[in-house]
Amino acid sequence: MDRKLLDILVCPLCKSKLTYDKKAGELICKADRLAFPIRDGIPVMLEEEARSLSPEEEVE
Ligand SMILES: [Zn+2]
Repeated sequence: MDRKLLDILVCPLCKSKLTYDKKAGELICKADRLAFPIRDGIPVMLEEEARSLSPEEEVE
């Protein structure tokens, strides 16, 4: 995942910066507690495709 790409990516809902979860291969919005998938190296920035984080999931 390209660092520069990560810098320009924002959450489509709240426009805040995303955190890259390398292990899960997801982009996390801490504010909305949503995880956006990365497919074939391309971040899927769609609310419909995002996964809601469970309360147990730690967002650093
Ligand atoms: Zn958000």
